[in-house]
Amino acid sequence: MADLLALSARIIDEGRADEPTNRVTYELSEVAEGIALVESFGHCIALRTDRGLLVFDTSNPAAGPRVVEALRRWSPDPVHTIVYTHGHVDHVGGSAAFVADASERGSARPTFVAHGSILERFARYRLTEGWNARINRRQFGPRRSVGIVPDVGTGQPRRHFLPEDVAVPDIVFEDRLGLSVGGLGVELHHARGETDDHLWAWVPERRAIVCGDFVIWNFPNAGNPQKVQRYPGEWAAAIRAMAALEPELLLPAHGLPIAGRDRIGRVLGDIASALERLVGDVVAKMNAGETLDAIVHSVSVPDDVLAKPYLRPLYDEPEFVVRNIWRLYGGWWDGNPARLKPPSDSELAHEVAALAGGALALAGRAQEAAATGRLRLACQLVEWARQERPGDEDIAAIAGEIYGAREASETSLMARAIFGAARDASTAAPGE
Ligand SMILES: [Zn+2]
Repeated sequence: MADLLALSARIIDEGRADEPTNRVTYELSEVAEGIALVESFGHCIALRTDRGLLVFDTSNPAAGPRVVEALRRWSPDPVHTIVYTHGHVDHVGGSAAFVADASERGSARPTFVAHGSILERFARYRLTEGWNARINRRQFGPRRSVGIVPDVGTGQPRRHFLPEDVAVPDIVFEDRLGLSVGGLGVELHHARGETDDHLWAWVPERRAIVCGDFVIWNFPNAGNPQKVQRYPGEWAAAIRAMAALEPELLLPAHGLPIAGRDRIGRVLGDIASALERLVGDVVAKMNAGETLDAIVHSVSVPDDVLAKPYLRPLYDEPEFVVRNIWRLYGGWWDGNPARLKPPSDSELAHEVAALAGGALALAGRAQEAAATGRLRLACQLVEWARQERPGDEDIAAIAGEIYGAREASETSLMARAIFGAARDASTAAPGE
């Protein structure tokens, strides 16, 4: 059994991650008497009670059976209650494996508990099935791993993005819910952050917090370019509320569990401060009338903050969070009048190519920009060239090179995945 608390203590105290923090081993670690964590994507957390296990999250559909197996090697007790920290597929997708386990063992089906908005989330996933399957394939495809997110099964074509047999909650709540399972008291707190249906749990008698994705050992996933609105300010407030309870044990759904009141306080304080500062900076500039472009290119998070082992921009990144803050408090229009009702991409590409002396000249200019490290500009120029001459193999090859260089230059999985997909699309055989 890995000593995850010793590992996290060392990494946090030394201030650098010299080994992976977001491991997917499907191994169970008992991190405190009667409290276990199975490392997966995301983790499953189980607390032993007098009436069976209280479980938080079920991992993703492919991992569910392995997580149940790991739990079963630790405890033969029935699973009494399963709390979903939120409705993302890597948290609810393994639920069918828990239901199957209960029926195989002849025990009652676990009671599922979640925030009420999870039901709208499930309905939205059904409505936008194709969209979600597509963006998750792009984001989590097997070749996209940067050591943060392994192949979690979402790279494989599944018939449904949200499994048809996902367990729908039996009990939902709005703001707070007190639970008592086998004599163990738990307070569930709703807070918006990564999602609108998120909760975190306080277990007073163990001074433990189960924090779901409020802590993920990466820069907060508050900016994801392909997904619905996130709530960076409320995220920070939830983190502050957790810190105020002075927990001794923090159990996140991704990354390492953390022990020690001061250490947890430091981590939570750093995450909250990073988000509060971003929100404050963006809102101040919005109030001052700045455009989205000006804000995106002037607001940032200091490098020493991003270097902290639990704030690295390896999954999401601050620039995307800036855009989400704009979207949350403003509208979709970016403040540039030319982009309120812009020309079509193809019309614009055609005109720019004509000005440049043709699509190939434009692509050549893109190569020059890339050679001097101006990859943002290079991508825009080559994209115009590609749009002007979609079937041109030379331009496609240049686009492939530039998007490949861009993918390699980025740190976040989200940026790398999108540029990597653009590279693949550039170099794919016609009709592929
Ligand atoms: Zn998650």
